[in-house]
Amino acid sequence: MDDNVETESFLDDLYDFANEEPVINTKRQTCSRCCRPVTVCWCPYLPREPIQLSTTVYILQHPFEDNQCLRTVPMLYHSLPPGKCHIIRGKRFSPEKYPELAALMKDPNTILLYPGSDAIDIMDLPSCQGTGYNLVLLDGTWSQARGLFHQNLMMKWPQKVQIKSGMISKYVIRTQPTDVCLSTLESAAVALSYLEKKPYLVETLTKPLEALCQFQLNHGAQKHQSKEYLIKNGLYRKKIKSSWLKKLNVS
Ligand SMILES: [Zn+2]
Repeated sequence: MDDNVETESFLDDLYDFANEEPVINTKRQTCSRCCRPVTVCWCPYLPREPIQLSTTVYILQHPFEDNQCLRTVPMLYHSLPPGKCHIIRGKRFSPEKYPELAALMKDPNTILLYPGSDAIDIMDLPSCQGTGYNLVLLDGTWSQARGLFHQNLMMKWPQKVQIKSGMISKYVIRTQPTDVCLSTLESAAVALSYLEKKPYLVETLTKPLEALCQFQLNHGAQKHQSKEYLIKNGLYRKKIKSSWLKKLNVS
């Protein structure tokens, strides 16, 4: 390990130590809606009234995502009217076990937000013929979402769409693989702003996330840079595969 990296690592540890939250013995009061301590509850940042949409959102959530203390899906759920955001948790979605989901995935108005060469830009999607699109998102870490996609046949049925917006993630607390990766909430917000033709939805829907990031930063969480940024700036400490370096044009 070279000296610079070692010094940086030491400074990071020192920073963590200095910013550690004090341990409070009394049980902290938590908000019944967002399940966060009331002092850092993001509920006041939700829209005043649930946002009326023609689109219905379905989130297929990898079960492990629920263990992460910083989740973005509840923010979306609580911003939309009842029945407009469905969360289905699981890893294996077989048509036998999930007949309703299978029918939904076969519906011509269903679209899956997932990048790939066969995914069309969401901006090029024709207007929905019918009541509204069913927008399906996969929620989990990047490898969990990839697993959900590849291990379930029904993911191949709907039209795939992708977002080409250059929006940089506000979700700075968790390290994202690249700067343009978005959290599930941000992806949904951008997609909905296009589908509903309401650009302001991006800001409205991501307000609680912005508040959460601010709370976390105020409480000593470090602003995480994406792996891409860390590697390019020589700050990434884990052993980096040479294929990665090639991909990022760093030698
Ligand atoms: Zn709350």
